[in-house]
Amino acid sequence: MAKNIQSIRGMHDILPDATPAWQYFEKTVRTLLNGYGYSEIRMPIVEQTDLFKRAVGEVTDIVEKEMYTLESRQDTEGGEAFGMALRPEGTAGCVRAGIQAGLIFNQQQRLWYAGPMFRAERPQKGRYRQFTQVGVETFAIAGPDIDAELIAMGARLWKQLGLTNIHLELNSLGTLEARQAYRELLVEYFSAHHELLDEDSKRRLLTNPLRILDTKNPAMRDLVAAAPNLHEHLDSESAEHFAQLQNLLDGMGIPYRINPRLVRGLDYYSRTVFEWVTDALGSQGTVCAGGRYDGLVEQLGGRPTPACGFAMGVERLILLMEAQGIQTPSAAPDVFLIMAGDAALRAGMAIAEQLRDAIPGLNLVSNCGGGNFKTQMKRADKSNAHFALILGENEVQRAEIGLKPLRGSGEQINLPISQLVEQLPLLMAAAQQQ
Ligand code: ATP
Ligand code: MG
Repeated sequence: MAKNIQSIRGMHDILPDATPAWQYFEKTVRTLLNGYGYSEIRMPIVEQTDLFKRAVGEVTDIVEKEMYTLESRQDTEGGEAFGMALRPEGTAGCVRAGIQAGLIFNQQQRLWYAGPMFRAERPQKGRYRQFTQVGVETFAIAGPDIDAELIAMGARLWKQLGLTNIHLELNSLGTLEARQAYRELLVEYFSAHHELLDEDSKRRLLTNPLRILDTKNPAMRDLVAAAPNLHEHLDSESAEHFAQLQNLLDGMGIPYRINPRLVRGLDYYSRTVFEWVTDALGSQGTVCAGGRYDGLVEQLGGRPTPACGFAMGVERLILLMEAQGIQTPSAAPDVFLIMAGDAALRAGMAIAEQLRDAIPGLNLVSNCGGGNFKTQMKRADKSNAHFALILGENEVQRAEIGLKPLRGSGEQINLPISQLVEQLPLLMAAAQQQ
């Protein structure tokens, strides 16, 4: 026998047992985003590699180590060959699409997207090679009001999902110019302590010194703690923006913790950055992260346009829902239709379609694949349906159908088939009330 082919490590199936939680999550998010006036955008999963190099930054973990690139192929129309990559994140593609379609020219936009992202990381709980993000991006809104709105949306989503123990970490990185000046201070400081740096940090000192602050190496903790504080070097406008954001959050009653070491792994951020973190998922505790990226649109060839957004990791949030025992509504069928015998099958399949025509939203599962009455009854039980509809040769001859409640008490009754369309919704409603 041929050897089974397995899925790729870090890339998972979401099996039928798990999809109700995903659908519940997706529906809740979609309704919430809609309620704040955000529109969905869908981008390709593959983009030119250069897009991510330019947007995310050449010396970030994502671009240096984590990106899946594809062999480039000559366009059949004879266009230029270019490198392609599976998207590691959504912001770059969203900005590219916005510029390309003229969506962020002289107008505000509030956009969201959802879908798979790909990063070649070491797989572990809450960290995968294919994972799902819901991302939200806003354009041409410069003030802290939109930063605050994005944070409020996160807080509301956790509340609606029933999630607890997620707290907000907040920081400001200042403008790109202010950060440049701070960067020089950092380089000076870390160079003076060069012997204490680990290999990664030595490399970052030359390429991206701010990322040293983000190190996960405990041996560097003291050194990092004593580094110059970004907040003492914020430009005055960024400081004002940050103060106003805090004021708005206070007004909405959203708690936060200011964390001056929060720098985020991507190059494109400026001013506000934030993370929603839980301690219930071990070291993969960040469930949502975002911030302001006022320079990115211009960097990708658009007009200078302020922007702010976030992305959440859906797998981590689903893990948290599980860990916190959050029940998701199940999609059990209303009715399972049993059809024993050829005449019953012929009549039953027609009745099923009539019921679907007449009762909007009806969830009806028909027995397929034959089987005697007992086998079909077992399938009906296993389906978790509220009712079994039962058609055998006798019922067909009498133009009747049996209706048996499968949960709780209640006896089987027989109805004339002609009354089914009228009676079934009433019986379903009565069963709901119990
Ligand atoms: P981390 O520090 O955990 O690697 P990150 O800073 O690389 O996260 P972002 O690029 O900000 O993550 O992505 C936003 C969110 O997407 C993260 O907060 C996380 O919830 C989720 N995420 C990122 N990478 C992965 C992954 N490999 N597997 C699952 N979820 C992920
Ligand atoms: Mg990462």
